[in-house]
Amino acid sequence: MKPPVAKFLTSVASPDGFPPEGPPEFAFLGRSNVGKSSLINSLLGQKLAHVSSTPGRTRTINFIGIYSKPTQPHPELLLVDLPGYGYAKISREVAAEWAKFIDPYLKERKTLRLAIVLIDANVPAQPPDQQLIAFLRHAKRDFLVVATKADKLSGNKLRAALAGLARDHGIPSVLPYSARTGAGRAELWRVIRARKDEVEQAFMPA
Ligand code: GDP
Repeated sequence: MKPPVAKFLTSVASPDGFPPEGPPEFAFLGRSNVGKSSLINSLLGQKLAHVSSTPGRTRTINFIGIYSKPTQPHPELLLVDLPGYGYAKISREVAAEWAKFIDPYLKERKTLRLAIVLIDANVPAQPPDQQLIAFLRHAKRDFLVVATKADKLSGNKLRAALAGLARDHGIPSVLPYSARTGAGRAELWRVIRARKDEVEQAFMPA
């Protein structure tokens, strides 16, 4: 699969910095160290998201534009990288951040089309992820759960882990992904593009 044309647009530390609402947005959320930066970079085929050696270092919301052609002036969709949560040492700081701008982004952003919740395929369901999913349900947000680092498990073990996570999070299924092998990449792009097109068709004149 050809990598999409992607450009880093802006990095914001407060709601006043959010870019004006425009193309549909796909937000990535997950506990620190879940593999969010690696997954975004693997989706893009380039290193735009910062992979940090210190868990929980991304303290901003980063907007990445995806263009259908390099010459296109406006992005067709945005990927939005939200700060990681649930890292014990900085949990108080992260709680403050939620109140400050993650919560307003998830509740109020009109152009947010889908929240993509990343969980580790190798770790049982964690309370912070359950809380996030409850929050998204309450806010009536569409969400998709993706299990990262799927390359660490194989065959029946992977299937059992995915089924257990889906059951414990009360969702029909979990999409496995590996930034290391690229497994799940085409499928995740398919979901993103389908959601984007759905919205465009809804606004087309009859
Ligand atoms: P973030 O804090 O959520 O952005 O996580 P990172 O992308 O920085 O990754 C955290 C750690 O998990 C790093 O050591 C990565 O090398 C590792 N990692 C990320 N994705 C994968 C994957 O698909 N497979 C494996 N085996 N390790 C991964």
